[in-house]
Amino acid sequence: MTTDITIIGAGLGGLTLARVLHVHGIPATVYEAEVSPTARAQGGMLDIHKDSGQPALRAAGLMDELRGLILEGRQAIRVLDRDGTVLFEHADDGTGGNPEVLRGELRQMLLDSLPDGTVRWGHKVTGTRALGEGRHEVTFADGATVTTGLLVGADGAWSRVRPLLSAAAPEYIGMSAVETCLFDADTRHPAAAKAVGGGSLFALAPGKGLLAHRERGGTLHTYVMLARPRDWFASIDFTDSAAAAARIAREFDGWAPELTALIADGDTAPVLRPLHALPVEHRWRRVPGVTLLGDAAHLALPNGEGANLAMCDGAELGKALAAHPDDAEAALTAYERAMFPRSAAAAAEGSQVHEMFYGAGAPHSLINLFTGHEAGEWPA
Ligand SMILES: Cc1cc2nc3c(=O)[nH]c(=O)nc-3n(C[C@H](O)[C@H](O)[C@H](O)COP(=O)(O)OP(=O)(O)OC[C@H]3O[C@@H](n4cnc5c(N)ncnc54)[C@H](O)[C@@H]3O)c2cc1C
Repeated sequence: MTTDITIIGAGLGGLTLARVLHVHGIPATVYEAEVSPTARAQGGMLDIHKDSGQPALRAAGLMDELRGLILEGRQAIRVLDRDGTVLFEHADDGTGGNPEVLRGELRQMLLDSLPDGTVRWGHKVTGTRALGEGRHEVTFADGATVTTGLLVGADGAWSRVRPLLSAAAPEYIGMSAVETCLFDADTRHPAAAKAVGGGSLFALAPGKGLLAHRERGGTLHTYVMLARPRDWFASIDFTDSAAAAARIAREFDGWAPELTALIADGDTAPVLRPLHALPVEHRWRRVPGVTLLGDAAHLALPNGEGANLAMCDGAELGKALAAHPDDAEAALTAYERAMFPRSAAAAAEGSQVHEMFYGAGAPHSLINLFTGHEAGEWPA
């Protein structure tokens, strides 16, 4: 490769790209805003999809390492009604095909697979500028700059690279997630632990829901989903953890205590995550020397695909660059030609899945999704 490659963002997408390039003997530098790999909790479980995340990690030569991270039994699924009645249950019989891993461990696996010094921590990008002939200048928060022949924005929802390509900006989807954790749940929170079971719990109603996972060591990690405007969340003081948890739990008044315990008995401060999305068909005209991947390119409604797609993009871009060592533009063209329809299809499907989770038919629409029944077939 004759072009120097600069990747902004050491999330799963940017790191997968750096690793696939490394596998092909192509060096790259990753600039990351966070000051260290442990600067921020990395979120919960991810299932690694067989048609996106897994091929990406195969291209990265990391399937053996991935196997070492899989948490056995976590593909079990339970859907509970708000009164705690089990509406649907599926055991993890080992045939699920989309194994669950912890996001933080997956990111560390990718970091460990890169040569020392590939990731420059504590480099928050504040601006980017075209210099002509495909070259770009990147400015960091401390005023330092680098110039590069190939710039990849893997810097997530609020990408500082995206403005070089597109005027689109993420919009609030009308729903936020509040993250809570219960530790050592089998001993300390047995009723909630029993409700969640061995893998994932879904307790849903129109416009709200609890999505909980059993992580390592009896940790129950819950996303409390609520369709409320930003102002509504802004009126809650999240610096007062107990009061915030109690306020969020109130939205689930009348639900079974083993479900509301996932919010009210949290062992960590509840973390608010407002959810945003780019337009489903977000795309741009080819601009020499720069592209985007992952959430920077196609932030979508949460549908369990985003991290998988980010890794898929990273791997596909890495392979395209390796296949066109003397022609980065040909590589970017090939990558974007496949990425745009792939991400648009996933975003459109995600919107449908979102409706099944939180629309008027919930929770039975979700059970139909799991059982393959058509809408309305589920015996209510
Ligand atoms: C509540 C919730 C649950 C989710 N659950 C799932 C799931 O189960 N499965 C799934 O596949 N997806 C899931 N997703 C989606 C998934 O988290 C994202 O799609 C995925 O993380 C995108 O990866 P990325 O590498 O593109 O971006 P990110 O993971 O956002 O990484 C971007 C990186 O860039 C860095 N960065 C940002 N700005 C700058 C800057 N200015 N300068 C330098 N560095 C910068 C960030 O610090 C970060 O390290 C979920 C999302 C949410 C919000």
